[in-house]
Amino acid sequence: MVTDEQASTPEALNPIPFKAETRQLLDILIHSLYTEREIFLRELISNASDALTRIDFEMLTNRSVLDPDAELAITITADPEQNTLTITDTGIGMTAEEMAENLGTIAHSGAKAFVAAAQKGTKNLADVIGQFGVGFYSAFMVAEWIRVISHSHQPEAQAAAWFCTGTDTFTIEPAEMTARGTQVVIKLKEDAKEFAQEYRLRDIIRKHSDFIAFPIYLGEKREQINRQTAIWRQPLRKVEKKDYEEFYRQLTLDFSPPLTYAHMAVDAPVQMYAILYIPAKAERGMFTLRKEDGLKLYSRKILIQEYCKDLLPENFRFVQGVVDSEDLPLNVSRETIQASRVMAQLKKLVASKIIETLKKMANDEPENYGKFWHEFGRYIKEGIATEQTESQELYPLLRFHTITHLSTWSSLDDYIRRMKPDQKEIYYILGDDARSLVQSPHLDMMRQHDYEVLLLTEPIDSFMLVRLANYKDHPLTNVAAADLKLPPQENEPAREETPTIPTEQWAVLIDRFKNHLGDKVTDVRMTDRLSGSPARLVDPEGAPNQELQRVYRMLKEDFDPPKKVLELNPRHPILVQLNSLASENELSGIAIDQLYENALLIEGLHPDPASMIARIQKLLESALH
Ligand code: ADP
Ligand code: MG
Repeated sequence: MVTDEQASTPEALNPIPFKAETRQLLDILIHSLYTEREIFLRELISNASDALTRIDFEMLTNRSVLDPDAELAITITADPEQNTLTITDTGIGMTAEEMAENLGTIAHSGAKAFVAAAQKGTKNLADVIGQFGVGFYSAFMVAEWIRVISHSHQPEAQAAAWFCTGTDTFTIEPAEMTARGTQVVIKLKEDAKEFAQEYRLRDIIRKHSDFIAFPIYLGEKREQINRQTAIWRQPLRKVEKKDYEEFYRQLTLDFSPPLTYAHMAVDAPVQMYAILYIPAKAERGMFTLRKEDGLKLYSRKILIQEYCKDLLPENFRFVQGVVDSEDLPLNVSRETIQASRVMAQLKKLVASKIIETLKKMANDEPENYGKFWHEFGRYIKEGIATEQTESQELYPLLRFHTITHLSTWSSLDDYIRRMKPDQKEIYYILGDDARSLVQSPHLDMMRQHDYEVLLLTEPIDSFMLVRLANYKDHPLTNVAAADLKLPPQENEPAREETPTIPTEQWAVLIDRFKNHLGDKVTDVRMTDRLSGSPARLVDPEGAPNQELQRVYRMLKEDFDPPKKVLELNPRHPILVQLNSLASENELSGIAIDQLYENALLIEGLHPDPASMIARIQKLLESALH
């Protein structure tokens, strides 16, 4: 019988099989990533750095750890004779059980994604490998065997050694080690001897691990290789663009440079340093190092939280970077940090800095801002829709296409600058896509009188408009509203002398429509709001406005838009013709149906456009007759 006590001793665990995915990862790594092998060192250094961060944090509240005064550092030595490489850290360390757990499975989500990509047959595996964390196992790309010796920070723990040759199993046994931390010893493969050369190691460390927050010492002379400075604590004028970009790359492993960045050094009301980045793409790559939203939060250079979401307004969650404040109370739990007044102040500072940076970018680099808008515009709209703090501040950041400026971005200020002298309101139209929107009959009048109209085609727009009712005292007005009032026109453009249905015949024609369409519409009437279009649909009085209808439609699947009023253009040739057609004529009914369904289609409300084809063919037949 195996007792619990026996089961937990290292001997009873040997030899231990790897979990399935680990084995696969190992095979793929060894065989497909030959040219990118050097990244194994980045992975081991990053693990050492994580272990140092954890002991650093632990010691804030617990001084009864092993070797409390040991320098927090990483030491790398190589022996070209023996062909070995050793990476030592004074971090948190691992017990035998922790080694079996941590080094026997792939916890790393990047590694899982990588196995999945390999199984799907992704061709450019070697291209993507440089961009993501594969973890501890990547060392088997260069290792004949690996021995990990560790002593946990818990003073009473036993040191243990993990050993593996890259086959199906590993072993764990007790070891001699008195100092706290972990030592990874690698016996290099014959074809990996280069990694026992110090000059080669120096290059790799500078390339991939320059901003690791703990010193990395190399060789017997213990020469420090990484620059290790907290770049955010440097004087602003001393840091160059390439440093910011390099730091961004090491922080995120995103290889596209950020669209822009901001460096903050603030003394009041709270002390803080920060570097904030706007990434080039909204979608975080599958291989990024940043697995969640949030900024890295430091206090006095100690990493307090890897993903601090409380520093960013929700709608700025795409921002990456680092915040460091001396004013955070350190000896408290993370929960208390979240609630603290300092956090609220930091968040406010961060939010205004982001807005300021975006405004500056919009002014100084409009083209770059266009890229920003393309990627992140919906986050700005979301901020307005959800009434984030300072949501008024977001208004100037909005950009739109308009009926007169279809392919460029205009701000609300651009729009106001171009307004007609008599114009008070900012006009907009809502729809599903710009191409069908520009055909909308609601624009007839606007075009005729030269009013510019914003084209709003994103789902979030309706939500935004519920909040954004005014900009600089100009109300935002939907041109599809039945009761839209345009300013009185001084020189009404002369209408062409085209035949019009005489007023006294309107009632008869309207009745024909009503009888034919039945309860598909709530009413039919004539309008003078149309010129090029024969008909349009508008909401009956008292119906929820179009923005709310769209919001309901998105929130509730079974929401039916209210029935509409069909408005007819008495000057349009189709209606003039229809009016002179005998009501018994078969074509009369067909034309009415088609006019109605065209109007439905242009509103984006037609449930089944293909169903119109039979009718259209009939119309063609008689036209060609
Ligand atoms: P990840 O670092 O993403 O968790 P790795 O495969 O790189 O994945 O490492 C697996 C785990 O092994 C780590 O999460 C950690 O618990 C443990 N580990 C690896 N190296 C060290 C080390 N030097 N000190 C302490 N723990 C380590
Ligand atoms: Mg790791």
